Order: sequence, then C-alpha cells, then structure tokens
Amino acid sequence: MSQQKWIEAWETLTFDNRFTRHLPADPDESNQIRQVHGACYSRVVPKTVSAPRLIAHSREIAEQLGITPELLRSQQFADVMGGNAVHPSMDPFAMCYGGHQFGNWAGQLGDGRAINLGEVVDVDGRYQTLQLKGAGPTPYSRFADGLAVLRSSVREFLCSEAMHHLGVPTTRALSLVLTGDAVTRDMFYDGNPKQEPGAIVCRVAPSFVRLGSFQIFASRDDVDTLRRLADFTIRHDFPHLGEPSPEVYAEFFAEVCQRTAELMVHWMRVGFVHGVMNTDNLSILGLTIDYGPYGWLEDYDPGWTPNTTDAQGRRYRYGHQPQVAQWNLAQFAGSLLPLVDHDVDVLQKGLHLYVETFDDGWNSMMSAKLGLDKFRGEADQRLFSGLFDVLQLAETDMTLFYRRLADVPSDSDAESVCDLLRDAYYKPAEINDEVRTATADWFSRYQTRLAGAGVSDEKRRARMNRINPLYVLRNYLAQLAIDRSEQGDHSGIAELLEVLRHPYDEQPGREAYAEKRPEWARHRAGCSMLSCSS
Ligand code: AMP
Ligand code: MG
Repeated sequence: MSQQKWIEAWETLTFDNRFTRHLPADPDESNQIRQVHGACYSRVVPKTVSAPRLIAHSREIAEQLGITPELLRSQQFADVMGGNAVHPSMDPFAMCYGGHQFGNWAGQLGDGRAINLGEVVDVDGRYQTLQLKGAGPTPYSRFADGLAVLRSSVREFLCSEAMHHLGVPTTRALSLVLTGDAVTRDMFYDGNPKQEPGAIVCRVAPSFVRLGSFQIFASRDDVDTLRRLADFTIRHDFPHLGEPSPEVYAEFFAEVCQRTAELMVHWMRVGFVHGVMNTDNLSILGLTIDYGPYGWLEDYDPGWTPNTTDAQGRRYRYGHQPQVAQWNLAQFAGSLLPLVDHDVDVLQKGLHLYVETFDDGWNSMMSAKLGLDKFRGEADQRLFSGLFDVLQLAETDMTLFYRRLADVPSDSDAESVCDLLRDAYYKPAEINDEVRTATADWFSRYQTRLAGAGVSDEKRRARMNRINPLYVLRNYLAQLAIDRSEQGDHSGIAELLEVLRHPYDEQPGREAYAEKRPEWARHRAGCSMLSCSS
C-alpha cells in the first residue's frame, strides 16, 4: 500500500490530541529511564515488533471510534496496534504519575509500558484516548521491559469488555495483537523464568488520568503543573462543573469520590476483586482501570484476594475494597490541598459524600440483588448481613447463589431451600444440619420480607436477573481461553467474549460457561491465584 493510501485508510477517524497540546511536555525526547519534572508526559514511540497479528477485537469499540471493517481487517491496523507504525495524526506519549503502592508512597511510576497514541473524537463526538499496553519501554519503565505477555493481555482484553457489558464503568479494549516476539517472565518470582508470547492490548478511555497523576506533582510541590492538570481535567472531563476555581476543585474532588463509590458498589455487586488497588490504579473518572492480578469471587469469601503478592496482608481482598478506595481518595485529597487554599474541611465533604454514596448505593444494590421493592432501613440491613453469614457457612458460589435464589418460589418450604440451591454449593458434604437450619432460618425471614413487599415471584425473578449476572469471567474460563491461545488457537477468546456480551441472559447451549469452578481449577495458577508478573 502506498504511503498516501495508508494515510487515507485512517481518515474515518478524527484525531484531536488535546492532552499533548494543552499540557506541559517533558523537553527530553530520548527514551531513557529518568525522573521527569514539571511535565505531564514524555513523547515516546512504540517499539518495533517482529510480526504483529490481530487475534481479537471488540466490534462495539471499533464502531464507536469509526474504524471500518476494511481497516480492521488490514495488516496496517495490526501494524499500528502492534506498535510498528504511527499515523501522522497521532502524537504518542507516556504519562507521568506517582502512587501509593500497598499503602506506601512509591514516588514516580508513570506509564512504564503503556503508550498513548492520541485522542480520537468518536462517532458521538466524545474524546477517546487510544493506548497500547505492552508497547515497549518508556522513560517510566523503571527496572522493567515495557512489554506484556499473551496471558495477561487476554485477561485485560476480556475483562474490560466483560465489565462493560455487565454495566460496570471501565476502560475498554479495542484490539489484542500478538507481537511475534517472545517475552521472558518469572511468573512466580521463584527463579524459573520462561519465554512467553508477547502481546499488546489497545485500551480505550476518555481519560487515563489516575489519582496518582495528581499526587506526583503535589509530592514535588509543583503546584503549577498540578493546577494545569486539574484545570485540563475539569475543562475536558468535568465541564459541567464550570471554570476552575477553589470551589470547583472541591466539587471536582467530590465528584471523583462519588464516582469511585459507585464503582465500588458495582465491584461488590458482581464479585470483582481488582487485586492491586494502588492509587495509580484508580481512575479519575471512576472507571475500572489496569487489569492485572484481578479475580472473580467464586466461593463467597470476603477475605479472598487473587493476588499472590498480596497474600500476606490481603490489603486488596474483596470485602476491603470500599475502605481501600476511601483511603486512596484521602491521599488524593491531600494532593489537592494546595488548590483549595489548604482548606481540609472543604475536601472532607467529598469524603463524606463517598461514604454516603457508597452506603446508599450498597443498600439499593443489595435490595435489588434480593429482588426487594426498595430498601426499607435497618431490618433490611439485618437481612443482608444474615445472608452474608449464610453464604459463608459452606463454600458457596456467589454468582450461582443469586441466580438460583431468584428461581426459588417464595412459598417454598424453608427446610428444602438448600436442596433448591444445591447448584451453588461446592461441597455437597458440607450441607449438614447446621447449614440447613441456618439457611432455612434466613430464608423464612426473606419470605416474610417478600410477603410484605407484595412482589410476584415472576417480577422478583426478572428484577434479580437484571442485576445478578449469570455469566462472569470466571478465572478458569479466562485461563482455558489463554491455554488455547498459547497453543495457537485464538478462537476461544472471541467465543468467551460473545458469551460475556450478554451476561444477564440465559443463553441456551452455553450453560457450560455458567458452571461453577471445576475442582481441577481450585489451585491452578491463573485460575485462583495470580502474580503481578504480566
Ligand atoms: P501496576 O501496579 O501493575 O499497574 O504497575 C505499577 C507500575 O509499574 C506502573 O508504572 C507500570 O507502568 C509499571 N510496570 C508494570 N509492568 C511493567 C513492565 N513490564 N515494564 C515497565 N513498566 C511496568
Ligand atoms: Mg498500573
């Protein structure tokens, strides 16, 4: 294809690179690892790879960006998404940010293996940044190679899209490209490095700015750059707040708190465990961002973390996520102090809003999960906590439990409820008299509550099935798709994505994707435990 034709093929996309146009750039354009001061980003081009090949894509995102099916199928699309070509409308860069990792300030982090290609104005006029993850080293790569392996890229690709279809705010994934190059990884940090296939995901979001993007400037007393980033973010991503001022910075903070609280309610609803909720992994837009050693709760255990690096402290366990988000927001508040004349109280309001939004959201979410008409105060809260106790009596699959509960007629004999829910239990032998009695007691209370609400079983079931997914990205399902992909059969990724596009609908013929984790997957790497190595 001639250079001219090549350029024209991308003309259905409109690029407008606001981030690089409005914000201060690192004057150094060399690709050397360094501390970057007074700049929001460094210009850097993706690393060339041997044989870029598109192995999966999201058709919804492609359409949203205005990418034609012809372009999608072309080798030049794989070339761009693999990092081998940069279109003249793009302006590739890596962002500077810092963060608290596992509760400790870690200084400068930045896009160590993510390279933003530029911003596309999508078919609805919204700005979307395209970002290649695993596209090679940047000035922020610290001690690592800037690359990503196939297994972690499949996981990021699938989970981004699965979350979207579940109705959970998230960054999206446009494409998954195999680079044709091998990447060395010591998966369990035990001195057994292996060669793995390299891959690149193109992530898409209105903004990839994180809480840590603000923290880095505050930590360096660089109030000028801090203000520029805040003003840029408010003008472009929070324009409804009006022109930046101390009051508007406080409102901005409050809205970030509100969105983050809503996100936590969603994660708790679907059983998602992020695994690495460092402040650099929390989005300013309240999106789920940075899919690493995340996992899906199978057995309902609030203490579970999929991340082997977090196995000791379990800071990022399922049940602790709402508190961690609040802690992260408090760190973020600290970094905004110079913009609000150091008025702690005005930011405290945002943190209160976090608690209020989370509590309200949690109560209505739990009511909806149980098919109640609405949340009716303390008695309902007792019903919820009673349920969490019951869920922990025996190893119980959270996803299946809610779906099966929706099918249980409200006039069922309470004593038989465990039999009706048997699909959700991992070990039938655990369902002893004690479990039966406790479950029956709880179910009787639920029956009374349902009678008071006057909701028909049919309505309740429909209401519950709209909020309780049947198909989630079970850890072992992702691993099976990865195993096939590593053997050269990439079709499992598209098959799984197809199922996950309709997570709340029963899909005849696809029952296997809704089954609880098989025994072989209980302790297999990638299925129940993951390291940060990716
Ligand atoms: P994470 O907590 O995995 O999101 O990453 C923390 C920091 O490490 C971020 O600044 C990443 O960009 C960086 N990082 C992670 N993996 C790599 C890698 N393979 N090469 C370079 N930087 C990386
Ligand atoms: Mg990260």
